[in-house]
Amino acid sequence: MITKSDIIGAAYEHGFDDVGFTTADPFPDHKQLLLDRREEYEWAEAVGLDLLTGTDPTTILPNAKTIIVLMEVYFRKSYPRSIEGHFGRCYLDDDRMTRDGLSKRIKAFRSFLRDNGIDSKVPFNLPHRVAAARAGMGTFGKNCLFYSNKVARGGSWTLPIAFVIDETFEPGVPTMEMGCPDWCKNTCIAACPTRALKGNGRIDPRKCISYLTYFGKGITPLELREPMGMFVYGCDRCQNVCPRNQPWLAKDLPMNDKVVAKEGNFALSRLLHMDREYFETKIWPHMFYMSYQDIWRWKMNVARVMGNSRDEKYITDLVRAFEGNPDERVRGMTVWAISNIGGPEARTALKGLIDETSDLVKEEIRRAKEFC
Ligand code: SF4
Ligand code: SF4
Repeated sequence: MITKSDIIGAAYEHGFDDVGFTTADPFPDHKQLLLDRREEYEWAEAVGLDLLTGTDPTTILPNAKTIIVLMEVYFRKSYPRSIEGHFGRCYLDDDRMTRDGLSKRIKAFRSFLRDNGIDSKVPFNLPHRVAAARAGMGTFGKNCLFYSNKVARGGSWTLPIAFVIDETFEPGVPTMEMGCPDWCKNTCIAACPTRALKGNGRIDPRKCISYLTYFGKGITPLELREPMGMFVYGCDRCQNVCPRNQPWLAKDLPMNDKVVAKEGNFALSRLLHMDREYFETKIWPHMFYMSYQDIWRWKMNVARVMGNSRDEKYITDLVRAFEGNPDERVRGMTVWAISNIGGPEARTALKGLIDETSDLVKEEIRRAKEFC
């Protein structure tokens, strides 16, 4: 029978940054939180996340005894500025579809457990961050994120991965607390552009830019278009402003060559004009929360970002997207974006937008002409 230190050694050998252990007891407080905020999390049930079931590890592995938590720092290397400003960092090197990075190491670690007579499951719906805190690996921030007490210089750029196993190992001492310093005057809450953070570690996920960029319904409401800023997919703002993250942000990190290689594919102009084949071969394998049916939302987000850039170089792209795109949500946003960029070129472009049948787009054009 292998020992705890054998497992710890194997985790480091497989490239993980920290290891913790907790029991496979249920997470009753987390279950209650999900029940109390059912309305805020019903979207998660709707997309099949089944978070409630994940609060009892025995529903995942009937003979569950222990949860091993392996910590992955997803921001080990830096990303090109052109991509980092528009996409949440945790999505930039996400291999859940391509299975050419972290997935291989998870698989290899499970093989190590299996070779030593231990059965394991890696459930997506178990509360990973809560498991990591119960294993004593870090604390929470008021932005609802998990902060390591050991890696990423104490920052939140971590992905705890929970392995439910059928053997008993001594658990760590829980650190289920808020670890924010008293002197931080809720910087994250003040900085959240859409008021998703409610204080004391509470979030309304439906108001978070991350949620809005991949699950938002209809054309983005006018009052959210500027606050959602330059993010196309995801949002890192409450992490970027957090003092607990500054030590890692100040570190000189090597460039992530894998992300550099796909940087061109994620250029805003290419995303705005992409067709199905481009989307499914170059984009979806890396950012997959939206299927081809939702490509309109990708394009709408890109148009909004172009508008918020105030960069006249995008006007030609926006006009082309207006003329060539059948979706009124995309066309409506291109109109808003042109008017938000403003200036003589934008006014000329807006004058040329005619022959519109959609009421939604007609209204966007009317408003744009009024304000531009
Ligand atoms: S990710 Fe962005 S929108 Fe979401 S809570 Fe943080 S700052 Fe607010
Ligand atoms: S910004 Fe301040 S309050 Fe928010 S998570 Fe960081 S330390 Fe905590």
